[in-house]
Amino acid sequence: MPGETRQAGAEIVEPTSMLLIGHDVPIGRYTTVRRLLPQRQRRMVGAWCFVDHFGPDEATTERGMWIPPHPHTGLQTVTWLLDGEVVHRDSLGNTQPIRPGQLNVMTAGHGIAHSEYPPADRPRLMHGLQLWVAMPDSARHDPPAFAHHEDLPVLRDGDLTVDVLVGELAGVRSPARAYTPLLGAQLGLPAGATARVPLERTFEHGVLVISGGAEVAGVELTPGSLLYLGTGRPELTMRAGTDAKLLLLGGAPFDEPLVMWWNFVARSHEEIAEAREDWMAGRRFGPVVDDDAAPLPAPPMPTTRLKARERDGHILG
Ligand code: MN
Repeated sequence: MPGETRQAGAEIVEPTSMLLIGHDVPIGRYTTVRRLLPQRQRRMVGAWCFVDHFGPDEATTERGMWIPPHPHTGLQTVTWLLDGEVVHRDSLGNTQPIRPGQLNVMTAGHGIAHSEYPPADRPRLMHGLQLWVAMPDSARHDPPAFAHHEDLPVLRDGDLTVDVLVGELAGVRSPARAYTPLLGAQLGLPAGATARVPLERTFEHGVLVISGGAEVAGVELTPGSLLYLGTGRPELTMRAGTDAKLLLLGGAPFDEPLVMWWNFVARSHEEIAEAREDWMAGRRFGPVVDDDAAPLPAPPMPTTRLKARERDGHILG
């Protein structure tokens, strides 16, 4: 962006390095999350189109993540916990507790409904991430699916510990299914340590700090912002200021403009309106098993037409 040094809400550090400040968003009635994607200037990193970071929160006095049945289309949800536990139930019949070090990947395709609650025996702390991956047009109408991964590969290199959540890093590959070339990895580094991680040059990348603080590609990072790094980088350098956990996201730039509204990822206003109608009429998504809670009603459609956005935030039409 020649000539530009500032945009609202973002600091351009160098041409391919942009610090995006997240904002707090209420989720359900009891939880607030830090939303790091989408942002006005940057909607996506690869096919990653939504990044929420929640906690660490004391869960004893509040109900924590308490999200009754709601629908999704056209995306995968990727849930990763650092602390606490969440019980996932869905319209395919799955009931699956997720605990730290495990990964839930729910593939909505044409449509799925799920709910997320704390377990009855609630852990003290809740800390984790929920991300969405946009599905390409070739797969987004497929039937839904759900996978729970308890044994993700871990790579250790000196002081660095890498949990490969999605995709492949340094020859270590996650079993999680992705529909476009994609990377998601947690990087752990003790205070004062430095590390280098090889990157796929054709991917764009972004990094956020889950806990602690670190200098990443020359930029100081703390929880609450996302450093967008663009494409063409052969490696990532980092130095932990305190014991740090980071999330590295990457992927082939996703060039299908998306319409995202509520819990739906689609390509047009009409598709969103149809998904909303189907949810409100009890069609398409099915009931969530063993969950008697009232489903979340969809908000009213906006009075203006929803428009497709490019990954850099450019609005089409
Ligand atoms: Mn959901």
